[in-house]
Amino acid sequence: MNETMLAAVYHGPDDLRVEAVPLPAISAEEILVKVVNSSICGTDLRILHGGHRKYPSGTVRIPGHEVVGDIAAVGAQVRGLSVGQRVFVAPNMGCGNCRQCVSGNNNLCANYDAIGITIDGAFAEYLRIPSAAILQGNVMPLDPGIDPAAAALVEPFACVLRGQNAVGVQVGDIVVVVGAGPIGVMHMQLARLRGASCVIASEMIPERRAQTQHFGADLAAAPEELHEVVNKVSRGEGADVVIVAAPAHKAQESAVQIAAIGGRINFFGGLPKDRPTINVDSNVIHYKELIVTGTTACSTNDCRQAAAIVNSGRIDLSPLVSARYPLRDAVQAFAMAEDRKSLKVVLQP
Ligand SMILES: [Zn+2]
Ligand SMILES: [Zn+2]
Repeated sequence: MNETMLAAVYHGPDDLRVEAVPLPAISAEEILVKVVNSSICGTDLRILHGGHRKYPSGTVRIPGHEVVGDIAAVGAQVRGLSVGQRVFVAPNMGCGNCRQCVSGNNNLCANYDAIGITIDGAFAEYLRIPSAAILQGNVMPLDPGIDPAAAALVEPFACVLRGQNAVGVQVGDIVVVVGAGPIGVMHMQLARLRGASCVIASEMIPERRAQTQHFGADLAAAPEELHEVVNKVSRGEGADVVIVAAPAHKAQESAVQIAAIGGRINFFGGLPKDRPTINVDSNVIHYKELIVTGTTACSTNDCRQAAAIVNSGRIDLSPLVSARYPLRDAVQAFAMAEDRKSLKVVLQP
């Protein structure tokens, strides 16, 4: 009973080691998932560099929270799941009984647990799914025909969906997406699916700007050209929706300027912890009757809706996958993910 598996284990800041660890044991209320695909996200990079508050010094843990796998073992008490099923696992588990959890916003629960954040995650051959995740509906069957690397992106896509639900992107809207990283391009794809009349991408890095047309952007602008492009497309009215998916003070500040009267704004990306303040002309918000929203992470319900959209084939997230690495090359994969020209880097045990 001392079986082992391969895993990429965080041992401290910038110390990720691929090593053999014990195969997780499951209780009668838990399941074991054989990881098919797990993708690296910005949160994982923050964890690696020692900047995540749930990874305090001394933490030794397996990260990885964007996961698709096949059920390998099912505890005797678990109902409704069976060995061999292809599943996506939503990472966040709320406490289940606080005000946020009860209202469906378990991403805002103060006492949350999350796979790859507070407990061992998916940069491993196998992943233990705790009973809370099973009972709260985090384990969602996926069409096995879908590219597992793309399906692992259901979680970030769910965060994107939450952001656009907050600003109600609808048919005919002129939508500006600031930032053309993986999150930004998912926003472009989704805005198009929701019927935007024009999707304008704003991005600083030329390589990233150039590829936005493959992701549903009608126009791309460098930050300094954005105001002019928006004015031209909207005949001076401004953008109906501005989504800031870049950790940029300037982009948040100019969002209120380029928004139309009655425009809706989503601050999707957070700012650095030590410099979270921006300078905004509050009268612009007042006189234009702007709606300024923020969203963070995603609830299990957002994941359910995102999985349904991905399962439907209406959106193809595969073009976002820039590189696929075997788990044993996790350290190189993290270095590649660090390169701001790549979109999503995934690990395949
Ligand atoms: Zn993520
Ligand atoms: Zn809660």
